[in-house]
Amino acid sequence: MNETTLTYRRYEEGDHKYSDLTENIFKAGWSGKCPTYVHRAPPCQAACPSGHDVRGWMNIVRGIDKPTNGMSWQEYAFWRMVEANPFPALMGRTCPALCQDKCNRRDVDDHIGINAIEHYIGDWALEKGLSFPKPDQETGRRIAVVGGGPAGLSCAYQLRRKGHSPVVFEAKAALGGMLEYGLSGHRCPRDIVHKEIQRVLDMGVEARVNTAVGVDVSIEDLEKEFDAVFWGIGAWSGNPVPVPGWGDAPNCIDGLAFLRAFNEGRLQYLTGRTLVIGGGNTAMDCAGVARRLGTKTDVPADLRPERVVLGEVEHAPTPVSERAPCDAWIVYRRPFAAAPADQHEKDAVVDEGVEIHESLAPVEVIRGPDGNATAFKVIRADWSTGKMVVQEGSEFEIPCDLIIAATGQSSVFKGIEALDNGKGLIAADGYYQVASRPGHFVGGDAIYPDLLTTAVGHGWKAAEGIDRYVQSLDLMKRPRVDIHRFDMADKLSEAGRGPTEYDHEPLRGTSDADFAIHNYTDRSDMEVVTTAKLFVGHFPVKPRNVRIVNQIGPDCVGDTRSRLNALTEEQIIDEANRCMSCGLCFECDNCVIYCPQKAVFRRKKDERTLGRYVDTDYDKCIGCHICRDVCPTGYIQMGLGD
Ligand SMILES: Cc1cc2nc3c(=O)[nH]c(=O)nc-3n(C[C@H](O)[C@H](O)[C@H](O)COP(=O)(O)OP(=O)(O)OC[C@H]3O[C@@H](n4cnc5c(N)ncnc54)[C@H](O)[C@@H]3O)c2cc1C
Ligand code: SF4
Ligand code: SF4
Repeated sequence: MNETTLTYRRYEEGDHKYSDLTENIFKAGWSGKCPTYVHRAPPCQAACPSGHDVRGWMNIVRGIDKPTNGMSWQEYAFWRMVEANPFPALMGRTCPALCQDKCNRRDVDDHIGINAIEHYIGDWALEKGLSFPKPDQETGRRIAVVGGGPAGLSCAYQLRRKGHSPVVFEAKAALGGMLEYGLSGHRCPRDIVHKEIQRVLDMGVEARVNTAVGVDVSIEDLEKEFDAVFWGIGAWSGNPVPVPGWGDAPNCIDGLAFLRAFNEGRLQYLTGRTLVIGGGNTAMDCAGVARRLGTKTDVPADLRPERVVLGEVEHAPTPVSERAPCDAWIVYRRPFAAAPADQHEKDAVVDEGVEIHESLAPVEVIRGPDGNATAFKVIRADWSTGKMVVQEGSEFEIPCDLIIAATGQSSVFKGIEALDNGKGLIAADGYYQVASRPGHFVGGDAIYPDLLTTAVGHGWKAAEGIDRYVQSLDLMKRPRVDIHRFDMADKLSEAGRGPTEYDHEPLRGTSDADFAIHNYTDRSDMEVVTTAKLFVGHFPVKPRNVRIVNQIGPDCVGDTRSRLNALTEEQIIDEANRCMSCGLCFECDNCVIYCPQKAVFRRKKDERTLGRYVDTDYDKCIGCHICRDVCPTGYIQMGLGD
């Protein structure tokens, strides 16, 4: 595809009937249908688990939605972002960007670099030292937040914004959960983790670290001291590989414990060949970390890596010059192409010298006389039918020194066993409330292990439930499209033209009433706009601005450089200009230009705001629907007068 490639065709190859536009126009002339403006949710936003107002920040970056108080556009975009998610610099680096997978622009050329824009704005705000304001009013309600990971911190942040006083209980010495102890530093730089968390604490969020609920504090203590409880305890127990010998060999270890030992600086090197079993992001992190750690030879038995991972000893700091590259393998049951880890993570580990051994089903751990694993027995699997068919007689042993399981997680319930739903997780109802435990809410990996943005989204939704619970209000059913949405009333109010309070006086007709927003329907809580509703012919092909990825390469022992580089200011504006603003006017003027009746007109400058850029003179409109046909964003619907 090049920049002259057509992005829209009215007729497909082989079509021999054409629709008579003139005929349609005249038919429409007496159909009585005129344009009305309908706001729908864009798919990027609907796909983002934290419900980011993606289109909103795109329109700020490209300059359509301007701040009214002299604020810079970067800051305005930042405030819009953190409505949903207080960690934009981290999300921009680590989120697998489900939003991009669903972006309508993929039907034209390539998705918008949403994640890269988040990265830029997040970094900009950190550089400028922006802090979150304290709430204007204190409610006096105290909420216990158990777990200082992304779910707990997001919940605490949203509660604090509402004026409540959350107290975060964290079992570990540092906040952050997997951001601190799980994801490797080359993907998730710790200075950024600490700064984005500090910004939440500075709002007046209290944190009690080294305090495990269930061990140091009981559920009953929390119930006595607090008005509600949020459980964001994550899923910290790695599942073992279910084969004979696994539980008996000390050098068959849990990937989460391995990463934690590395992230705490206790583990400085490996020995011999390391196998990582699994194909998710945790497996990629373990393999990437193994390559960065490297190996030492002649390591005494009591300093072997598994002893460190099990917390029995710590390695002394070991210079890179004393470590050789690690022979790290990923062993995966399915074809590697089907592995659930993000493609760029898979590409990166291959670039960094990890060997991929795919379609190998685990059979047994082979142990030596000292009980340690000496090899991992596997059998070849054929997936050509979509199901695993093991190839009888194809078993073989892979000699190794360490085997790391990265094959799923569950929560740890020490002292809080009553919360376990029997599957190692916590069951939630539709309000993110712990099943049959009013006043206890839950979110993040504790419900089901997923992503950072999912945990942040749960924290926000649970905070909304908690807010209502502590006011003794009924919990509200979550909308079908559960996102942070553009609100026309807020936008009009920002421009000093918000709707007035409804006075409940009897009125005949509302066409002149100031309490109503006229000729506008908001369907964004129930409807997502697809490409079929857009006029994509408006958009020429335009290549995506792609972030430069540092190719670390196989010589990576001790390498802590992060992989992703942010785009420049010019690049992100260019990228935001690619956004098709699905579901909301972006002021392209097509309807004004193409209306044959000159019925569509631009509103006066002082009456315009986002989504209120044009209006229709219904005395002139003949219902030809050309405005709808040429609206690139799908904001116009023929219907008024139906
Ligand atoms: C190796 C790895 C790599 C990943 N990579 C990515 C990625 O690239 N992108 C992505 O989006 N997601 C990734 N994830 C998933 C992501 O990290 C999780 O989905 C997310 O951290 C879940 O947040 P959480 O707050 O629910 O749980 P956690 O981050 O696990 O935090 C839970 C917190 O609760 C604390 N806690 C637990 N029990 C108690 C208790 N009883 N009392 C007090 N505190 C307690 C824990 O110490 C922890 O700090 C990865 C996960 C792993 C393991
Ligand atoms: S948090 Fe992830 S899914 Fe949501 S907008 Fe950002 S990159 Fe997209
Ligand atoms: S084009 Fe823009 S609004 Fe539409 S889905 Fe993509 S990012 Fe979202």
